[in-house]
Amino acid sequence: MHNNLTAFFLGGLNAARKTDGREPLRVEDLAAMEAQRDVKARTRSEDSARVRADHLASVPRYDLDDGRHGQAQRLLGRLANGAEGGKGSLVHIVPEDANLGLCGATYGAARSVGWSNELPDAATCPRCLSRLARMGGHLLPPAV
Ligand SMILES: [Zn+2]
Repeated sequence: MHNNLTAFFLGGLNAARKTDGREPLRVEDLAAMEAQRDVKARTRSEDSARVRADHLASVPRYDLDDGRHGQAQRLLGRLANGAEGGKGSLVHIVPEDANLGLCGATYGAARSVGWSNELPDAATCPRCLSRLARMGGHLLPPAV
């Protein structure tokens, strides 16, 4: 990162520091700051992976009675027009090996941006629930 852009950036930074009465930074200081920032970013992504794993462990789960399991999932609405409310009102049952709810609900450009990461309640979609009943599946007790 010893290039003109760094020198330019450092120059701007040090002009501001001089006004504040602080010591000017050297290129080495900048590199150290960057390394610190990398560590922080790494820690953040590990944290979010952990949160995601905890989330997945506490999502209501279904035995689909055909060797598969499903999870309660809420569809996100289209972020483009902020109409998340309507689409998000139903909780579907989504087989763990699929992106399609038992009722056929899924996401796509025209419909929804994806399944929500928020912790859903047990399924409320009547079509998913009647399909589950026909399959002979059931809601599993929560994992402890
Ligand atoms: Zn459904």
